Amino acid sequence: MEQYDCIITGSGPAGLGAAFYLVEKNPGLKILILERGKTSSGGLRNDCKMNFTYPIGFPAENWDSKEAEYYLKMVIEKLKPEILEKKNLETYQRRSARLGVDLINIRQTHLGTDGGLLLIKKLTAELEGLGVEISLGEEMLELDHSRNVVITDKRTLKYRALLIAPGRQGFKFIQNIMDSMGVVYVDHTVDIGIRVETRVEHYPIVKDYYDPKFMFPERVRTFCTNSGNAHVVQERYKTVHDEVYYSVNGHAYSTKRQPNGLANFAMLKTVRFTEPLASGQQFAVNLGLQAMLMGGGRPLMQRVGDFRMGKRSKEKSFNDDLFDFSPSLSSSCPGDISLAMPSKILRYIWKSMKMLDTIVPGVLHPSTIMYYPEIKLYANKPEFLDRHFRVRGSVFFAGDGAGTSRGITAAWASGIRAAEGMLKITSNDKTTSVNTITRS
Ligand SMILES: Cc1cc2nc3c(=O)[nH]c(=O)nc-3n(C[C@H](O)[C@H](O)[C@H](O)COP(=O)(O)OP(=O)(O)OC[C@H]3O[C@@H](n4cnc5c(N)ncnc54)[C@H](O)[C@@H]3O)c2cc1C
Repeated sequence: MEQYDCIITGSGPAGLGAAFYLVEKNPGLKILILERGKTSSGGLRNDCKMNFTYPIGFPAENWDSKEAEYYLKMVIEKLKPEILEKKNLETYQRRSARLGVDLINIRQTHLGTDGGLLLIKKLTAELEGLGVEISLGEEMLELDHSRNVVITDKRTLKYRALLIAPGRQGFKFIQNIMDSMGVVYVDHTVDIGIRVETRVEHYPIVKDYYDPKFMFPERVRTFCTNSGNAHVVQERYKTVHDEVYYSVNGHAYSTKRQPNGLANFAMLKTVRFTEPLASGQQFAVNLGLQAMLMGGGRPLMQRVGDFRMGKRSKEKSFNDDLFDFSPSLSSSCPGDISLAMPSKILRYIWKSMKMLDTIVPGVLHPSTIMYYPEIKLYANKPEFLDRHFRVRGSVFFAGDGAGTSRGITAAWASGIRAAEGMLKITSNDKTTSVNTITRS
């Protein structure tokens, strides 16, 4: 059986952050990253807009501002971001404050989907140069934590410390692992919302502030704004019964590409359930399936002009003279989102949209499109044994899949925090480093 000092499942930012920390602190460690995808590395591929200010991306249950800023410093040192400039911030903040809305001033950078790919290549090449093995197209299937053994679709491996960081697509996987180890977790919080797409001239704030973070009352917020060469996309998810549903999302290419004149952003409402609902994720999945039913297996889209008049959108809603751009996710089904979305969530989101239209007049132009559903499943909240996100023995979790982050930089930071714990284990236990054994 092959042996490693540290195995990391998932080559997203959480996995990469951990791997860099480990190899830089102890170059003698034998480290393996398992990645089920044919390419590295998770969510860094999508848009790659990075936020370097607390609380963006940092769940309050796991992070306070001091701790987040401490780790963000390390993330900044590694990624060396070029922070984007902002303009007219005070004006937007003043207008927001009058409505009881917060516009947070965030240090951010944007590489774009193409720029993200280049960054991944650079980072993985650097890691391999430092001796870290990255096994692409290899999926972790099971864990026998009593024997420190991981089973993949290709082989059985032994570890001294293990980090599982499978991202949002790995929710079910990480829940199965928690069930198998008897780790207690709650899963009661989800974000549900819409993605708004409009012309940049109807949402000109994006020229002043790339990804403006508005916090509205009732836990509604803007999220993941894209402009330049911006597109709405759909992500495919499967239920445990193999039913498919989609969540919309957005991304943009770097400034090297010709702008398409569009901007998109999510309006999300955080919903936190209490008794008797057992699973927030199940609730979100059901909403996803409901939307599929109404959209004939596709996400729904509706023009603001139709929504205001209480009418569903039809194909012709996207052709007549009021409508001045084509949807970037044109495969969506024209329909009526108010039939598919729980009314309380829709009410709060629409109220926030009206506030936004007062702060940035124009965003509620009749041509603006609302896509539904946008679902954010970051609901797993395991009971951790220490501040390094250890769950059992020498098993650690990090990243979005474990609820320790909600974005690239926080995922990277959580990977470092877990790696600190892994490092303690590999230096405390009396067994010799695997690398020493294999090299001698
Ligand atoms: C379309 C889109 C756009 C986004 N844009 C932004 C953005 O602009 N800015 C931002 O901050 N955040 C953005 N995010 C969120 C961001 O991608 C995540 O917060 C971040 O990637 C989480 O990092 P992670 O390491 O936890 O997981 P991921 O990046 O998802 O990485 C997990 C990796 O684990 C692998 N994996 C899963 N299960 C297994 C297994 N069993 N065995 C082996 N490998 C496995 C997966 O293939 C994946 O590569 C976006 C997300 C999406 C989907």
